[in-house]
Amino acid sequence: MTATGTHAVVLGAGIAGLLAARVLSEFCSRVTILDRDELDDGVHRGVPQGRHLHGLLDRGRAVMEELYPGCTADLVRRGANTAEVLAETRWYVGGARLTPTSTGLTSVIVTRPLLEAVLRERTRELPNVELRERITVQNLIGDSRSIAGVAVTGALGPEVVAADLVVDASGRGSRIMEWLRTIGAQPPEEECLEVDLGYASRYYRHRDGQLGGQASVIISTGRNGRGGGAVHVEGDRWLVTLAGMLGDHPPADHEGFHSYAASISAPDIHEIVTGSEPLDDPVRYRFRTSVRRRFDRLPAVPAGLIVLGDGQCAFNPLYAQGMTVAALQAVALRETLRAGLDPVLVPGQFYATAAEPVALAWRLAASSDLSHPGVTGPRTLRTRLTNAYVARAHRAAHHDPQVARTFMRVAHLVEPPAALAHPATAGRILLGGQSWPPRM
Ligand SMILES: Cc1cc2nc3c(=O)[nH]c(=O)nc-3n(C[C@H](O)[C@H](O)[C@H](O)COP(=O)(O)OP(=O)(O)OC[C@H]3O[C@@H](n4cnc5c(N)ncnc54)[C@H](O)[C@@H]3O)c2cc1C
Repeated sequence: MTATGTHAVVLGAGIAGLLAARVLSEFCSRVTILDRDELDDGVHRGVPQGRHLHGLLDRGRAVMEELYPGCTADLVRRGANTAEVLAETRWYVGGARLTPTSTGLTSVIVTRPLLEAVLRERTRELPNVELRERITVQNLIGDSRSIAGVAVTGALGPEVVAADLVVDASGRGSRIMEWLRTIGAQPPEEECLEVDLGYASRYYRHRDGQLGGQASVIISTGRNGRGGGAVHVEGDRWLVTLAGMLGDHPPADHEGFHSYAASISAPDIHEIVTGSEPLDDPVRYRFRTSVRRRFDRLPAVPAGLIVLGDGQCAFNPLYAQGMTVAALQAVALRETLRAGLDPVLVPGQFYATAAEPVALAWRLAASSDLSHPGVTGPRTLRTRLTNAYVARAHRAAHHDPQVARTFMRVAHLVEPPAALAHPATAGRILLGGQSWPPRM
């Protein structure tokens, strides 16, 4: 049921902005998405990370499927692959392969631009949603108590877009902290974890039979902080992404890219890059710091303003959580709006509802980052005990299908971490994860 006359404006047509607009379309009579880019030329300049491997966790896929029924089938029709997460793909964690087993989870193996294009087309089809391209948001209109719209520039010059609700989904580069200061509102505190991660990605021609016919391999960063993935995406291509932490970044030249691939703890990616024809040059991306903005802790937030997606919390990309958390924030927005569309109440209720999935993903990522000795951050007793337990879980998951299954369901945010502490699983982890020294 939409509230007559309500207009929501969404800043940014990335994954978070599209999902938020889809939810808002159920409650507002009009939704306008503003994006500074031209979006249909296949190169989304405002999303440079789109050139790199984007894994979609099963929880995020399920939410997208709920919001856009049939979107997985749309993706497959346009060349994406799907696979059972452990039975049909290869995962190396803690230095060895997780034992292949059925998990009940599906991987959609697709490039970020195709995923975004399908969600964008479906969002554009909604009768009360308009997507305006080449519009750059410059500022919020309003004061510390309430927001009435945004000031923008576009081809026709400056303009004010009035709104009952403004949703900032303009990503990691959002200028929200500066915008809040400009209107005299208190910006949230920021929690940061520096990982100085580097990515380099390149497309290769896919040939039948490579990787034993499987569509993807992910090798998590081992002791040397190096890892990567190779995924069989649309257009019969491998998208190969190499990753290195703490400044040890993969190079972008042909020789360097291949020798970096050879230095990863399992040979699968190196075999793919040496056995396939490269289709372009490697492209790099540097991600220095995970940032979580604690809007949920602000004593007062301006009415009519919500910040979500990477602008609220930008996760270390290694754990593939960003798009799924954006999806869970869209679910939180839907729950909030079901209770009413009062612009004074909506922001606080949204941040309270969204806090749990954001906190869970942040905790999982941060404790994994802190298992690398070079990452600086608070290693509480809890973090150290958790990491010791998780290392055991990895070792058990190398040979125990039940542990491997539970581990993947937790990593895909389908089950809570407590599932790994369930007595039946904990016994298997404590007994089965004892091998020493750990295999790396
Ligand atoms: C290298 C890398 C790899 C990643 N890998 C994964 C992965 O494997 N799995 C996963 O789930 N997530 C991954 N992520 C995270 C994922 O990309 C984001 O979490 C997800 O896209 C949600 O981002 P967003 O929609 O908030 O912002 P974005 O996707 O960055 O979109 C922001 C949009 O806002 C627009 N915009 C910005 N400023 C303005 C303005 N002033 N006016 C108008 N428009 C504006 C931009 O043009 C853009 O369209 C990765 C991130 C990086 C950096």
